[in-house]
Amino acid sequence: MLKRVKRIQGKRIEVFIDTEKWNVNSYLKELEHAIEKNKRLGVIYEIHKKQGEDKIKSLMVDMVFDNFFKATEYFISHIQFDLLHIYVKIQSIGGPKAFFDQIISRENFAFFTVSPIALLQEIYVKYFKIPNDLIIQLSHELAPIEKVINHEFVHFLDINKVKEGSKIFERYKKIGKFDKWFNTLSQPFDFLAQLRVEGLAKFVENKNEPSIEYNLAMIKFGKEWIVKGDLNYVDRYQSGMYMWYFISLSYLLKTNKSKFDEMRAYFGKDDFLFFAEGLNNILTKDIRKINLQNLSENFIMEILKEGLKWSHLHFLKEYESACYILKIPKDQILMTVSDYNRIKKIQYNEWLSEVEKKGFKISRLSIYFQRLFSFIRKS
Ligand SMILES: [Zn+2]
Repeated sequence: MLKRVKRIQGKRIEVFIDTEKWNVNSYLKELEHAIEKNKRLGVIYEIHKKQGEDKIKSLMVDMVFDNFFKATEYFISHIQFDLLHIYVKIQSIGGPKAFFDQIISRENFAFFTVSPIALLQEIYVKYFKIPNDLIIQLSHELAPIEKVINHEFVHFLDINKVKEGSKIFERYKKIGKFDKWFNTLSQPFDFLAQLRVEGLAKFVENKNEPSIEYNLAMIKFGKEWIVKGDLNYVDRYQSGMYMWYFISLSYLLKTNKSKFDEMRAYFGKDDFLFFAEGLNNILTKDIRKINLQNLSENFIMEILKEGLKWSHLHFLKEYESACYILKIPKDQILMTVSDYNRIKKIQYNEWLSEVEKKGFKISRLSIYFQRLFSFIRKS
């Protein structure tokens, strides 16, 4: 276990890193396998052999320490305690990402797992000048580690709402009793909570991007399924990020109209429209994707400060009212409060009819079912 300590604005930050779970042999075996298919990847293998595992490991460790201290420093105003412990395990988790453990974390104890691949990719590019196209062949995705860690760090800042969500989820689990149907009952809540939590992390993770690539076709498609009551066709990360973006934009319109009027949507290299010309016009263009100018980093941080206090339901209300304020066309409003309530009712009725199909006669007047329905309505 390695430890480094830093004082940031009077707060003591202790970061611990555990590299013992990182199995070098299994990684090298994967690499050998990849080289069989693509000889060019042999360059990476050579680097490992030449530099030696200790050197590569120490670069990884430095990268983790640097990025966690950087994230802590950046988000320090959101940290309530004078002492923060961050525990990081470097371990393969399937896919080149990181993971925040919400179950064991507390407000001043944060536990994360970072995948070695995510770190190695960046080390290859940064220190050994391996071209990006080769790195992508290794794992199909190249996510800058700073963004990956910022994303997980936002989940940690959001821990109160994340834990509240887990409690509601547990309640559903208890109510469901019959495992097979539990999924149906909790699905709408789970869906909305993920839009809020993952969307927020993705929105903040992209705070330095000059624009957001907005996929009109994807939202239209997702909306059509939501209207039918099916939630399986919506990307919760991407869609959630758009929801936070529009919420923020509506706050910009309310607080700084002249700044809002300067914001632009880009259709091509030199082709753009100002938001002042009407988002209604921009978002009804017959085009799959457009780039929407991003808000400033400071503004995104202000929204984060507020957004951390919002429940999933409050988030949905904010989103719906933002859509009306911004005059977003109907087929681009992913979900309204009434969509959400309708889907919960559909799922509840489906569950009841499943139970009855199994031969259990259910009285909708029973106290249990009245309580169940009122819990579902409120969550
Ligand atoms: Zn996430």
